[in-house]
Amino acid sequence: MIQTQLYIDGQWQSPIDQGTRAIVSPADESVIAQAAEATRADARLAIAAARRAFDGPWRQTTIRDRARLLNKIAELIDRDAEKLARLESLNTGKTLTESRTDMGDIAATFRYFAGLVASESGAVNEAPHHVISRTLREPVGVCGLITPWNYPLLQAAWKIAPALGAGNTVVIKPSNLTPLTTHHFTQLIDELDLPPGVFNLVTGGAEVGAELAESLDVDLVSFTGGAFAGESIMKAATGNFKRIGLELGGKNPNIVFADADLDAAVDYALNAAFFHAGQVCSAGSRLMVEDSIYDAFIGRLAERLPRIVIGNGFHGETQMGPVQSAQQHEKILGMVQAGIAEGARLVHGGKRPAGDVYKQGYWLEPTLLADVTADMKIAKEEIFGPVITAERFRSEEEALRAANDTPYGLAAAVWTRDLDKANRMSRALRFGTVWVNDYHPYFPEAPWGGYKASGIGRELARIGLDEYTELKHSYINLAPKAMGWFGA
Ligand code: NAD
Repeated sequence: MIQTQLYIDGQWQSPIDQGTRAIVSPADESVIAQAAEATRADARLAIAAARRAFDGPWRQTTIRDRARLLNKIAELIDRDAEKLARLESLNTGKTLTESRTDMGDIAATFRYFAGLVASESGAVNEAPHHVISRTLREPVGVCGLITPWNYPLLQAAWKIAPALGAGNTVVIKPSNLTPLTTHHFTQLIDELDLPPGVFNLVTGGAEVGAELAESLDVDLVSFTGGAFAGESIMKAATGNFKRIGLELGGKNPNIVFADADLDAAVDYALNAAFFHAGQVCSAGSRLMVEDSIYDAFIGRLAERLPRIVIGNGFHGETQMGPVQSAQQHEKILGMVQAGIAEGARLVHGGKRPAGDVYKQGYWLEPTLLADVTADMKIAKEEIFGPVITAERFRSEEEALRAANDTPYGLAAAVWTRDLDKANRMSRALRFGTVWVNDYHPYFPEAPWGGYKASGIGRELARIGLDEYTELKHSYINLAPKAMGWFGA
């Protein structure tokens, strides 16, 4: 049985009150680990350690030291990639293929930020000859990083790599449902002999996250998760007006025009909605199809859905695993029922699959609800499960209006062969990412984040590093002379 500990000030330790939490496999509900469950008191120790490290020797590291560190972490991720992928699949239920892809993306993220950090240099500004004016980027300080359960180590990597690369110290709190890969990652960090306190792990629930958000000794909090927790973090952060980054939920339209390549659009409608059983912040669960092809499109999806292989993520033939928890399972089923009650037509799914292997665990059939209208709750709220809701539209204007009529703004996709329309739509859609004739690709080089209620700030890309820096104007007068403004 895996047992995890906290990592504070360079030491592995148990929580002060010896708290533990059973970690459960979503595939069969068996207990797979006992994780340390920290309290606010442990979080305070970790924050104090991170503060000391930031105010101490860590400030003297050079960009070369930190770029080397990120590259070394990438090497260790590659070395343990299979172990990490297996842990991620065990803890989240996602297929091993998806977890292996995550580990490749995580190593790439560290390498990308290593390259950016290495190329970092301040700017010398135009100024009078007796003045040296420079614009410098400096670390923000102690960073509290709070991550969700759907992409546990990937979301952590998007924060840890730029935070350490920019010269900050870190206290990370993964979701208490999925701490295993972040714990293993911390073991890799422990191999590196960093100064104590530069990297700290506190596994626990909302109260640990709240301590990070509230603490006056934390300078930046970066959170990925739901809107409810995001709002409370934003309010808590006002105590010292700390820097905040919020990556929140989405309600992401996948818009198919009649002139699209329909073979590709049908296929990608499945990828958009059912990767990781739909538990993706950018999942394209809100399908919008042009009227003239709507019935045929729904017919083609209806043929494909029963053929999706649901099963244990470790089995090679599995295409879709379970959802994360009993709570999610119940919530998703409840939303499907609410949709049917509002008038949506259940085409496929909406229940636990039949068969003994699906009796234990949080299994759901891939689900298709047709004849959904934009005013229904299921078209407005994030479902975060394997459910497609399909709406019909009659014109480009109608599609655009309905797609933008959401408080969220994370991602959207458009399927068309008309480049003019593709360009118009990508400009007019109010979302942080707009894909045309594709779904889901993201790169370390491209920014990730949401408009409106999908968040504040961006991760990845140049801006994903800048978020972890303060900008300073350094002005040195080499020949000071009295100004005489107020006389002699
Ligand atoms: P969640 O908000 O319940 O929890 C996220 C993290 O915050 C966990 O570590 C949790 O313990 C902690 N937390 C909960 N309440 C807190 C509080 N009051 N103060 C401080 N910390 C608190 O989210 P979840 O259920 O783990 O993840 C699913 C959500 O995350 C979905 O809404 C999804 O869309 C979103 N998400 C967004 C992105 C993105 O890039 N925008 C990526 C992945 C997931």
